[in-house]
Amino acid sequence: MSATQSFWSVSQRAGEPAYRVCMSCLSEVFYLKVPMPDCPTCHGVSTYEAFTLEAIRDWGTEDLIAKAGIAQQEASLEPGPAASVKSAD
Ligand SMILES: [Zn+2]
Repeated sequence: MSATQSFWSVSQRAGEPAYRVCMSCLSEVFYLKVPMPDCPTCHGVSTYEAFTLEAIRDWGTEDLIAKAGIAQQEASLEPGPAASVKSAD
């Protein structure tokens, strides 16, 4: 995996879950962003839907739940729009 994955950043609206799960393969999850141009696993386009971490823990595989945790950690390390959304609360 030497190629750099590009992402659309997703601005979080009030009351909307921060996680995006690929509904096609159910094995990719991202935090406030979606991969472009398509899903890196199944290459589905516009297959991502918003979920809360609680929902993912409810029905997701262990792998998906682990990925969700990693995605959130990565997002918290990156300075960017997500940080300003958080402080505006
Ligand atoms: Zn997929």
